[in-house]
Amino acid sequence: MTLAPAPAEQLQLLLRDLLPTQYQQLTEESPHHRADWAAHMTPNPAPYSLIGMQLAAMHNGNLLSAELYPLLAQAERATTNWLKKHFHFPQLNFTQSGTYSNLEALWQARELHSGDNPFVYGSRASHYSLKKACHILGLQWVEIDTDGQDRIDLSQLRRACEQQPPMLIVANFGTSSIGAIDPWQDIADIAHQYQSWLHVDACWGGAVLLAEHYPPISADSLSFDPHKGLFVPRPCSALLSRHQFNAEKVDYLQSPPAMRLTGSYGGEMFLPLWLNLTLLGEDWFFEKIHSRLQQAQQLTEQLRQFTGWPTWHAGTGIVVFSPEKDLSRLVSDGVLSTTRLNGKLYYRAVFASYATRADAIIKALHPYF
Ligand SMILES: *Cc1c(COP(=O)(O)O)cnc(C)c1O
Repeated sequence: MTLAPAPAEQLQLLLRDLLPTQYQQLTEESPHHRADWAAHMTPNPAPYSLIGMQLAAMHNGNLLSAELYPLLAQAERATTNWLKKHFHFPQLNFTQSGTYSNLEALWQARELHSGDNPFVYGSRASHYSLKKACHILGLQWVEIDTDGQDRIDLSQLRRACEQQPPMLIVANFGTSSIGAIDPWQDIADIAHQYQSWLHVDACWGGAVLLAEHYPPISADSLSFDPHKGLFVPRPCSALLSRHQFNAEKVDYLQSPPAMRLTGSYGGEMFLPLWLNLTLLGEDWFFEKIHSRLQQAQQLTEQLRQFTGWPTWHAGTGIVVFSPEKDLSRLVSDGVLSTTRLNGKLYYRAVFASYATRADAIIKALHPYF
């Protein structure tokens, strides 16, 4: 049986109606279906996400005993194979969030690669989870300056490497603040020169790599959050790696999974993605990613056309602009958020949701033109 999108929406309404009225408000609090929602990276979930979550809860199996749940294990394999194929990495495991994926990557690097070199280099626009991971692992986070567009300053990185080669270098593919892409090919060359592990933080920008069919990135590991860029609910993050860590056969009591943070887990991290992929097909995802990137580009062009506000889009779906006006009402309405770039305040519109539209953001901004 194939499910049409309509029943997926009906299920949402049905579930809401099953709730006692005092809890229904909770379901209405969520703004992610709005055309003018662009405050943060939380997307509007793809049509079958809710059923995927229900399936995970109904099944509730534990894949540390995968032999007991062959169908669930098969769904996990299908989802990991799809991501591995498109990112061109041989290894993948799901984690609960980008924070865990980054921590796990640094942990693997420390175990396999560090000797006793504790140094990890990354730009100051890197996500705070990397610094946190270093703290937990006893590694030393060294922050490299950024250029005017929040990308790592390559000459500073080179200088730091000459003085002290690092164990690992982080390249950002889509910073959290403005979605900036570090010059990762140059960083890959530097990492190669100093035999450092290269970790790509693509938690936010990874969907671009996927939809634009990028050639393989020569990195040791890469983290990506489908719960940000692929329209599925949390928790769903992925750590991709070129290194083999997990024992082939994991047994909960005898051979616990090596180099993996997650203990017991079931379908909650992948069934929503798997179900949407199975029922809608990969082209649905590629089309929706392209469309949200186009909407971001359209907003950028319209702001440039209608206003004199400095505006730009680094290519991963976050539009930043500086109107020299107080837009705090739009921030409290969930339309925009703010960030700082080289000390200056910028407003940002994040195109994570496939419901978010440039014309709706323009309409909200129009009174300030
Ligand atoms: C969001 C984000 C993370 C952390 O992800 P969570 O899923 O929120 O833990 C890491 N890196 C970047 C660039 C991010 O945008």
